[in-house]
Order: sequence, then structure tokens, then C-alpha cells
Amino acid sequence: MTVTYTITVLLDVNSMQDVDDRAESRSYIIADHDSGRAIIIDAILDNVERDITILKELNLNLMYALETHIHADHITGASLIKDRTGARIIYGGGAEGTVTGVDAFLADGQELHFGKTVLRALATPGHTAGCTSYLLPGAVFTGDALFIRGNGRTDLQGGSSEHLFDSVRTKLFGCPDDTVVYPGHDYHGRISSTIGEEKRFNDRLNLSIDKPTFIAIMNKRRSPPPAQMDVAIPANMRAGRLPELASGR
Ligand code: FE
Repeated sequence: MTVTYTITVLLDVNSMQDVDDRAESRSYIIADHDSGRAIIIDAILDNVERDITILKELNLNLMYALETHIHADHITGASLIKDRTGARIIYGGGAEGTVTGVDAFLADGQELHFGKTVLRALATPGHTAGCTSYLLPGAVFTGDALFIRGNGRTDLQGGSSEHLFDSVRTKLFGCPDDTVVYPGHDYHGRISSTIGEEKRFNDRLNLSIDKPTFIAIMNKRRSPPPAQMDVAIPANMRAGRLPELASGR
């Protein structure tokens, strides 16, 4: 396997996120080596200027702003990034019909090419009904489907513990064991894991746990909703386009 890209891992400095949320959101810039073409996954509105500075410094041509799902804890930067760079906004096929302002939806198995690098969409519903992970050779961006040693909540936005179990076990655990996992959040200061590690050590989804046990564990969890959910979800259903921006264009 020839790796044709470089990943820049970006931590969140989003002011919407209070400390109690401990959301620790992650964004990723992935740059194709030869062409300088790039994508960003799960950009955050508050961090757009920083992200654009990086793109300029590295002389990257941002082709696509991808979202793994409709986030409840922060506002996506996808629309502002599109305005600033001309990048096209891409969501997974599961979000079609739920989110507006999107240039293309990638159905399960569909590919996106930027330079020599090829990304493939993996439909991984369960955290939300429309969650999608993005697979590169050697790396997978799992959004809130699979975390390092954990997984996203399943009690909001059409979530389903049964669907999440199937998504992780069949889709994500179907990737080679040495595939590096880059999650949408991490609450313990970790950057990455591997599929093989998660098969062994994931708290709730390791291979020794069956579906009824997983569902029972998830049913017992009680987490408060994200603090800014009522602001974030409506904005994210417009791909992060705020009302005042929408009317001005
Ligand atoms: Fe989420």
C-alpha cells in the first residue's frame, strides 16, 4: 500500500463548547502529496480562520469539505470554508433529505478522488441515522460511530444502538486491523487508534461483546444533551450556513 497523503490533526478551540461538554472535537485536513489537492473533514465554524491559514501555508488547494454527520455539539465550518475557498460540501448519503446547502452526497461505497488519493464512504449509521465514515488506504475517519475505546451516544438524532453495533462490527471492523482510526472526538487526549486495537480493547464494542449486551449497556447510559444542541443542529441542517449569511447571498 502506497500512502499518497498527509493527515493534519486539528483539535477544537470552539467557544460554544463548555468545559462540562468535554467534547474535544477533531477536524482533519488530508492533503494529496503530488497534486496539493486537499480535503477537510468535520471543519468547525470557530476554527475556520486557523484551518485556512494552514491550507495557505501548505499551498493546498481545498477541493472538498466533508462532514461525517449532522453534529449536535458545534456548528460546522463547511459553508464558511466553501465561501472562502470554493471547496464543495460533501455529506454521506444517509444525510440526504435532512441537510440543505450540500453539493454532493456520497452513498455507501462511493469514492471521492483528489489527486492520487481515493477516499471511500462507509455508511455507519447509529450515532445519528445519517452517519458516514470515510476510508483512505490505511486510515478511517469514524466521526462519532467509533471512538478510541468507545463510541458515540445513540439516544439523539435518530440514533440506534442496534444500527451502531452493526456499523462498527460489519463496516469498520471489516477494515484491515492496521487501519488507523481517527475519531470525531476523544475525551482522554488520544489522537488515534487502530481497528485491531478497537477489536480487542474497545470498552463496549470489542469482539467479546454481543449485540444484546451492547444495546443493554447503551440503554443504561444517561448523558445530558450537548449544551448548545438547539443552536447547533438547526445550523448544521443548513451545512452550517447561519441565517444572516444565508439571506445575504
Ligand atoms: Fe456527533
